[in-house]
Amino acid sequence: MIKICTVVGARPQFIKLAVVSRVLRREFQEVLIHTGQHFDHNMSEVFFEEMDIPRPDYNLGISGGTHGQMVGQMLIKIEEVLLQERPDMLLVFGDTNSTLAGALAAVKLHIPVCHVEAGNRLGTFDNPEEVNRILTDHSSVLHLVCTASGVDFLRREGFSDSVHLVGDPMYDAFCYYSARLEGSVLEELTDLTGAPAHLPDSFYYMTCHRQENTDTDQKLEQIFQAMDCLDAPTIYPVHPRNQERAARLRQAGGYHNIHLIQPVGYRASIAMVHRAKKIVTDSGGLQREAFFAQKPCVTVFDWVGWPETMVNRCNQLAKPDKVDILNKLGAQAWFDPAYQPFGDGHSAEKIVEQIRVYWNGR
Ligand code: UDP
Repeated sequence: MIKICTVVGARPQFIKLAVVSRVLRREFQEVLIHTGQHFDHNMSEVFFEEMDIPRPDYNLGISGGTHGQMVGQMLIKIEEVLLQERPDMLLVFGDTNSTLAGALAAVKLHIPVCHVEAGNRLGTFDNPEEVNRILTDHSSVLHLVCTASGVDFLRREGFSDSVHLVGDPMYDAFCYYSARLEGSVLEELTDLTGAPAHLPDSFYYMTCHRQENTDTDQKLEQIFQAMDCLDAPTIYPVHPRNQERAARLRQAGGYHNIHLIQPVGYRASIAMVHRAKKIVTDSGGLQREAFFAQKPCVTVFDWVGWPETMVNRCNQLAKPDKVDILNKLGAQAWFDPAYQPFGDGHSAEKIVEQIRVYWNGR
């Protein structure tokens, strides 16, 4: 049986893993390596529990530090595991430091790399994840792509036969788990700021954790000013990296219309997507989920990550500026149900099929 080592480390990768691993294990042997990049219970463990993800075979316990320290330590440890396991292939998702470290460790050992969510580009190295995307793609033998724009980017970089449009495993997860949401899923919200934890009937769902928006007070302050004067409260599950800053700014500004809560599990997150009025985020995953649920989204970021979501003001870029955010939130969006650029909810099957075809051809 072909042995595949999968490397994951961060929240969005656990979500993609949940749907892909379920199909992959029907015909391949999977060895799962968790780098430890996300380690808090509600950033890691909760996803394994509620999405029935197999336990990692290895947890490397590497998190924090500079990008160089993190990637360097992961590279050393992943190489040790690969030398021991001798897999036929390495599978990585997305664009985190864990993705890059996995791909580099494997390509140096001449282990073929399969990259899921290949071809996504912002067009700037000012974004730290862009480096991970490009270097991972250029270390990979198989490029499995979510949308047509990703195929175009890869073609322009010289790739052809290795590129396959398979759809977005985030859409698979969204369809699968949306059909299985229970009413109780939203009772688990834990308020960070002391107010009673309950979900209002009408609310905005916000996440904000990108380095570009959270490395100074100023940008988050502008976002809070915008969200505080809306017609409904904002629910903001705060990434651990950003909790101290968010709580301090909320307190100083008296932004009582914004509720800071602990990060929630995946099912609670998509339940909030379904129930929210609108979504404000800097997350690549959440802006797609807003689109899947046909909820207008404002993405506070300088670059377009998912151009397919930007049609008809379904998703609009805003600067981290109060007036710009409020203007964009006030605009009317229009969703065309016939436009489905993220596939049919069965990308996991197509991913596994392409891996099978790759091995059959050798
Ligand atoms: N998400 C979650 N709990 C939260 C906030 C977000 O489960 O408290 C989910 C969200 O629904 C989406 C994913 O996490 O599926 C996005 O992950 P993240 O924003 O960390 O990464 P990105 O998509 O920006 O790479």
